[in-house]
Amino acid sequence: PIVGVIREPTPGERRVCVTPDAVGRIRSATSAEVVVQSGSGAGALIADDDYRKAEAQVVDTAAEVFDKADVIVCLDPPAPGLLRAGQVLVGMLSPLSAPESMADLAGRGVTAISLDMLPRTLSRAQSMDVLSSQANIAGYKAAVLAADNYGRYFPMLTTAAGTSTPATVLILGTGVAGLSAIGTARRLGAVVTAYDVRPQSRGEVESLGAKFLTLESVASAAGEGGYARALTDDERAAQQRELNEHIGRFDVVITTAKVPGKRPPLLVTADALDRMKPGSVVIDMAAGPLGGNVEGSVPEETIKRGDVLVVGAGNLPSEMAPAASQALGRNVSAVLTHLLGDGDLEFDLSDEINAGIVITHQGAVTHPAIAAALA
Ligand code: NAD
Repeated sequence: PIVGVIREPTPGERRVCVTPDAVGRIRSATSAEVVVQSGSGAGALIADDDYRKAEAQVVDTAAEVFDKADVIVCLDPPAPGLLRAGQVLVGMLSPLSAPESMADLAGRGVTAISLDMLPRTLSRAQSMDVLSSQANIAGYKAAVLAADNYGRYFPMLTTAAGTSTPATVLILGTGVAGLSAIGTARRLGAVVTAYDVRPQSRGEVESLGAKFLTLESVASAAGEGGYARALTDDERAAQQRELNEHIGRFDVVITTAKVPGKRPPLLVTADALDRMKPGSVVIDMAAGPLGGNVEGSVPEETIKRGDVLVVGAGNLPSEMAPAASQALGRNVSAVLTHLLGDGDLEFDLSDEINAGIVITHQGAVTHPAIAAALA
């Protein structure tokens, strides 16, 4: 088969999900050839010639890629009308929030494979885990962004001009991004405290040298598959009240809390922001069009509330496109090796990884959760 890579369709997206290294791995592990649209790697500082050296074919237009390729790989999906029956689309398709577009792809005979549906706790799937690789990078970048926006030092520094006290940092939500932010803030010398509704994360937080904040309002909201469940209205209100008492003690707050398929929980209220000291910085990694973890945060914008900065994170992995693309290349080549190792485009849905990521196949929506959402 031929694997095709197009320039990412979303404006501002600088990552590419197949790097020249990944081309090499795909070509050696499968019988596939790779065709790349010219300029696909530019945002990640990868030249067309780098792809040619890896023996990919570089073509001028996306249309040529769609024409030649059997498998199209991307982050955000292209318009469905560009795909044809029998083609395989591999990308971050968010099928849970867009089940109708999955039905559309099935109707067109396109096999849709969604990288964000990977069963993440399977150890043999870990090298394929795009959500984790990108959340790791985002967490690192969020901590660096916080340090950059903070007008004092993160570390304790002793100089001839005196000694600085270390910054106190609170991380809310300790999944992959939160743990990465903890590690980075610690490496910069901050004193870090972290909180999650999954009490199991305490051990991970403490092993990174941070203190776990225990709240009395919500004992545990561990949900399925290692994710959190949404809180009830009462739990949410109690959690906010309790957090309001703590947040003002910290110089920096980084929020990462998400619940699959739901709007992110509001953890830092306007009241909490008003209790923070002048110069405090809040980074909302969950900021999105429907709101984030911090009241009033706006994605890609920095808002001043009194003397507190509220930074709505945008696409942080894209801001580190070279590193993020390198990780994506690893993940995607592992996925393609798994899918195409036997050389055909019929996917065995009894395989646990395929059962998670294959959303549509042979004209039907095969994924049970997406089929149920459409019923
Ligand atoms: P995520 O992005 O869905 O959420 C981030 C964090 O927010 C989670 O830790 C969640 O518990 C927390 N959260 C949700 N609501 C909250 C609230 N009201 N208050 C405070 N915190 C709240 O999560 P993720 O980073 O994708 O990771 C989810 C889980 O998957 C974790 O348990 C992680 O360890 C696990 N995981 C396991 C593997 C593996 O086993 N290989 C790989 C990746 C992730």
